[in-house]
Amino acid sequence: MIELKNIKSHFPIFQHHPDLVYLDNAATTQKPKSVIDAISNFYEKENANIHRGIYPLAVSASQRYEAVRGKVAQFLNAESADEIVYTSGTTASINLVAHSFLSPRLEAGDEVIISVMEHHANLIPWQMTCKNAGAHLRVIPMNQLGELDLTAFKNMLSSKVKMVAITHISNSLGTINPIAEMIDLAHQNNIPILVDGAQSVAHYPIDLQALEVDFFTFSGHKLFGPTGIGILYGKKKYLSKMQPYQFGGDMIKNVTFEETTFADAPQRFEAGTTNIAGVIGLGVAIDFVNELDRNVVRSFLKKMESDLADKLLNVNGLSVVGQAKNKSAIVSFSMENIHPHDIATFLGAENIAIRAGHHCTQPVMDFFQIPATTRASFSIYNQAAEVDFFVEKVKEIKQFFG
Ligand code: PMP
Repeated sequence: MIELKNIKSHFPIFQHHPDLVYLDNAATTQKPKSVIDAISNFYEKENANIHRGIYPLAVSASQRYEAVRGKVAQFLNAESADEIVYTSGTTASINLVAHSFLSPRLEAGDEVIISVMEHHANLIPWQMTCKNAGAHLRVIPMNQLGELDLTAFKNMLSSKVKMVAITHISNSLGTINPIAEMIDLAHQNNIPILVDGAQSVAHYPIDLQALEVDFFTFSGHKLFGPTGIGILYGKKKYLSKMQPYQFGGDMIKNVTFEETTFADAPQRFEAGTTNIAGVIGLGVAIDFVNELDRNVVRSFLKKMESDLADKLLNVNGLSVVGQAKNKSAIVSFSMENIHPHDIATFLGAENIAIRAGHHCTQPVMDFFQIPATTRASFSIYNQAAEVDFFVEKVKEIKQFFG
């Protein structure tokens, strides 16, 4: 087990930037040395393409690549490694489901349900698919705290709805949505449901079999892994019937000029040379997370979020955007008459990395009638003292901009 108090030493970035207060973990997490080493070792000592060559390096690269599929399945408690598709990230995973699963089933007049707090990656693919089919995108509303209205959701469910897609944790508000209940409600109406786990997978142990969710997506880079690799989990009964989304090498059974037959899932969704080093890095990132006590991680992140939110609420003229009862790791806020970009620039000069903007959730900004927020997002290497330093600097901003 790796203890949180020693965790920073596993992340080389903090040796290169000892004063860095990194609070942009919702955008991407830093990488442990084991992950960085695994990627450079692969390129230095083990590089070969997969699924093609029969020489030892190629065989070993293929074996390692496929072994990670099993590791991901175990990590998420999926029933089988065949339910794990490698993609380039959450965005690609959701686009794949929209194209390969939903598009062929969607007809004019049908409906797709998302929520008002979705990341654009879990909004635009459904919006485009609906537009192409003449179907309607319906949106679950939220209250001023940033909590979804489950009664409204229940009332939207009908035989017209062909898909529900919902984020587990909001990347701009930190709200943890009641996904178990939402999955249950969708299933009572025989509607398949996708959960966007981009913000939850690093914080929450995910048990896909217990959740019975139909599709689940995440990105390696928010789980201490590399960029350019992500996962789509899909129930076997769906993946096995879905047509491929992209065509090319390594996804076929037989090709002639007249016709092509496709490999079984998940291979049929992995056309071309994929991010092999990324897969190896993701496997080592999962090994790293498996060394953590996930319950400790969960309560640590909750405490960091609630301590920061409580302290910020004492700053005059500052409002915390998103105050759901059930939230974690993310604190978004606005300051009267001070633009979030000015706040981010000021904090950047103090070595504090935070994000200012709409966080790819423009409808959330529209809901709160603000152009942007300043967002601090925590991970395992943050420290209690960083919260106090952050609040102190925010108070200085107030004085500076008067
Ligand atoms: N969904 C959520 C909730 C996110 O936070 C993000 C990343 N900010 C995405 C989807 C998109 O992830 P990626 O850019 O890695 O594809």
